Amino acid sequence: MPLKSKFEDIDIPNTDIPSFLFNRSPDFGENHPVLFDAHSGKYLTFGQVREASQRFGAGLQDRWNWKKNDVFCIFSPNQYDYTVVAWGVHFAAGIVTPSNPAYQVGELVHQLVSSNAKAIIALPQLLSVVTEAARKVGIPKDRIILFGDKKVEDFEPWKNLWTSRRANYPKDKIDPTRDVAFLAFSSGTTGLPKGVMLSHRNIIANTLQTIRVDEHNTTVKDRYMACLPLFHIYGLTTLAHVGIYQGIGLVVLQRFELALFCKAVQKYKVTYAHIVPPIVLLLAKDPSIKNYDLSSLRMINSGAAPLTKELVLEAHERLGIPVKQGYGLTETSPTTHAQKWDGVNGWRVYEVPAGKEGELWLRGPNVMLGYLNNPEANSRSFTKDGFFKTGDVGRVDTHGNYYITDRIKELIKYKGFQVAPAELEGLLLSHPKVGDAGVVGVYSSSVASELPLAFIVPAPGVSASDNLVKELVAFMNERVAPHKRLRGGIKFVQVIPKSPSGKILRRVLQFECLFRVNSK
Ligand code: AMP
Repeated sequence: MPLKSKFEDIDIPNTDIPSFLFNRSPDFGENHPVLFDAHSGKYLTFGQVREASQRFGAGLQDRWNWKKNDVFCIFSPNQYDYTVVAWGVHFAAGIVTPSNPAYQVGELVHQLVSSNAKAIIALPQLLSVVTEAARKVGIPKDRIILFGDKKVEDFEPWKNLWTSRRANYPKDKIDPTRDVAFLAFSSGTTGLPKGVMLSHRNIIANTLQTIRVDEHNTTVKDRYMACLPLFHIYGLTTLAHVGIYQGIGLVVLQRFELALFCKAVQKYKVTYAHIVPPIVLLLAKDPSIKNYDLSSLRMINSGAAPLTKELVLEAHERLGIPVKQGYGLTETSPTTHAQKWDGVNGWRVYEVPAGKEGELWLRGPNVMLGYLNNPEANSRSFTKDGFFKTGDVGRVDTHGNYYITDRIKELIKYKGFQVAPAELEGLLLSHPKVGDAGVVGVYSSSVASELPLAFIVPAPGVSASDNLVKELVAFMNERVAPHKRLRGGIKFVQVIPKSPSGKILRRVLQFECLFRVNSK
């Protein structure tokens, strides 16, 4: 029997993202700062964000003849105006596909081709990857623009595209229930990364659902730490949309580094940090945090990967504030389960009671429209009555608390980032010295994360050796983003265990990693 959320239902306005966020006069006022660049000290007010999005959206329409549903790729680490670009594309009724800036050419090509992107914005430092990928997929050079204020080679800064005209609210043009706002990428339960179609309604629903969890506990004086990547849906919805809708300022860091994080908390008096388990680990254990005044922090929320109870308690003890957890997926926009913040006293860690485990199936207005152009993955991922099958295993206790206890899908999570085993196996198999390959995740408590580990059967006539390990590691590192590197190592085996239908038996491999002594 399906269980219903204990939270009160939300009203989801039947509108598009630009109208939802900007077609209003919020109580916090037009001049309220909402986006801070933690590196330069610059910031944007609510009114400035609206104006910049509208002028960029109008520029796309007037200068590039942008059409409804044209796809725009953002290939950049966090920038304080990252989401201004995204909302500008929405003002022009376009679709945003956010991409991981650590991608190598082949990985970006996969996303550009699958999403059919028409244009790209990037940081100047990424131009070599971007131009190479764009050339391969046929995106012309004049459809590549840059963050920042400077022209670099032939590439214009994005602000040069702004017009003095402001784009209109796209209300009539966008059907919020059917039109895609973000095409994020996830490998789902199996295979390569796929375009996840998140509609305007999906994002608006999840923004309001997330606000419901923390309502009455946050005010416009709060500040969110935005050190999580805005190219991932956790950063995009949970920080940017939830933040700006409520007037909670986002302190944007280009990347996570502990010293930068602590300095930004101190300088901007950050109150609410959304992080991932490896950052919780650092906050719990790293001695350097004693050098900073982190007393403004009132709440930590960890998501995107499993967090152990021990770490929750350790971080709580050290910082003296609640450390709560959320769970979700790209496919659900993302948050589906969150701990309530009942003030410091209401916070507790529950013991996992014995109970029946099962795969979590979810239904709701935040569940994606489906995977783009992939009927096979869609039929695998949804039940006939519309439940999305998460590929995660959990249980619920008598208080209605959920516990994620296992993952039955292929996915590996390195520090919250997705690693699709099928992608790494495909690359390994393209190496002439590899006969067969199977990739699994192994948990390392020293970094509070899973690490990708490859089992390799050498090709006939090739012997297993340290040199082969080195060769394969170098081969992979040239082709994949750093989070997909084989940090768990490479082990040689005689055979990759498979089911009669040819599916890799990953549990058997994982068992193998736990118990094999003779390992590389
Ligand atoms: P992504 O689509 O990148 O957000 O990855 C979603 C997956 O991350 C989920 O299906 C889970 O396997 C994992 N995940 C997210 N949040 C949690 C959590 N709080 N605990 C355990 N696993 C999580």
